[in-house]
Amino acid sequence: MPLEQYRKKRDFGKTPEPAGGTPRKRGKLPRFVVQEHHATSLHWDFRLERDGVLVSWAVPKGIPPDPKRNHLAVHVEDHPLSYIDFAGTIPEGNYGAGAVTVWDRGTYEEEKWSEREVMVVLHGERVEGRYVLFQTGGKNWMIHRMDPPQDPGREPLPERIEPMKARLAADLPRDATAYGFEFKWDGIRALAYCAGGRVRLQSRSFEDITSRYPELREMGAAIGSHELVLDGEVIAVGKDGRPSFELLQGRMGLTAEGDVRRRMKEIPVGYVIFDLLYLDGHSTLPLPYSERRRLLESLELKGHFWQTPPSTSGDGEGTREASRQLALEGVMAKRLDSAYLPGRRSDAWLKIKNHLGQELVIGGWLPGAGAREGRIGALLVGYHDGPTLVYAGKVGTGFNERMLARLQSLLEPLRRETSPFDAGTRPSRAAVFTEPRLVGEFQFTEWTRSGQLRHPAFKGLREDKDPLTVVRESPTSPNL
Ligand code: MN
Repeated sequence: MPLEQYRKKRDFGKTPEPAGGTPRKRGKLPRFVVQEHHATSLHWDFRLERDGVLVSWAVPKGIPPDPKRNHLAVHVEDHPLSYIDFAGTIPEGNYGAGAVTVWDRGTYEEEKWSEREVMVVLHGERVEGRYVLFQTGGKNWMIHRMDPPQDPGREPLPERIEPMKARLAADLPRDATAYGFEFKWDGIRALAYCAGGRVRLQSRSFEDITSRYPELREMGAAIGSHELVLDGEVIAVGKDGRPSFELLQGRMGLTAEGDVRRRMKEIPVGYVIFDLLYLDGHSTLPLPYSERRRLLESLELKGHFWQTPPSTSGDGEGTREASRQLALEGVMAKRLDSAYLPGRRSDAWLKIKNHLGQELVIGGWLPGAGAREGRIGALLVGYHDGPTLVYAGKVGTGFNERMLARLQSLLEPLRRETSPFDAGTRPSRAAVFTEPRLVGEFQFTEWTRSGQLRHPAFKGLREDKDPLTVVRESPTSPNL
């Protein structure tokens, strides 16, 4: 009974899928279909018409566009021929519940067909070319493209791109018409590499941080078979609706799956997307910002946990005003005609902050008094000027109890006898010094003439930053 397994798994009173029926009149060549199936886990069902049924494989990452990468194909039960036209939603509670759409259809030529190897040439609306499926063990097969990529100019999906950086500017650029303006987000910079319905998130230091933010798995399924590299920021939004780096700290360091799952409910994160670096086989790095944004916006990436906030051309004042009203960190000004320059900091991207703030290296603490007796009273912070670590002052506010305890536990093992600071005013005699390894984010009103911070407050730890890269950020002239 060729379709027995297919029928056993389904209740045809409840699913819109076909029960079987008479084979349709055939053309000269047998047909194939690839159905995109948003089941619990997104996959593509690859089906070949043969001997009155559809011989089927479920391919988790879809039909490979490139001979360099083979994809797993799980052999599944034969489906009735009428399934070739099926698209619709299989209701919850049924086998394979989820939406099914036809991703590609066409005819194929059979070149070889054995128990363990199937070689075909596909003539689809999307896919053209020779493929081989070969069994690797039990139900597991692989699908391999034998022809060169269909698109002769295809470039492989990059593995790592260093994010482009922004220069700190004291004010909006004078020639606002040359720029696109975005909100500046207070989170963690992350690039998203999307292919085969899966997302890989990479930090600025090229760390794979995918497992820390399971919220974004859903984004992979929504992107489907597009291959993209996105630039954006992982943020946590507080009860007041604004992004909070302090809050995000509660998620950043977590790696164990159980811990992440538990904290996800308390502190959900989102991904704000602001640039597109690769699209379906082609790098978009050389394109001007305005063109990259146009392509990005045409993708309409928007879901529960991801958004593409707008970029407005020419209206810096409006964007800044809105960023102030929303109590955001500031605005980004990006030259409309600029290519994406990986790892580079230039006037092509400017950050204009609503408050002064920057990362600083922690080099010790002052013991607390009163309620903080025996604990940290204030942090001693500095920045690098070449190899010299310059003392910038003490910071005694901005901590909660949990953070104080955490800082204490991180700093105690770093204790040392001598001051790590080579320059600047001397810290007080009561200071306890540490190796300058921890980096924090601090906000303040201004730099004093003697190079000290005025009214500084601690904003959070920056575990994604290398202390050696922490320098004093001076706003550049706005006369651009
Ligand atoms: Mn399926």
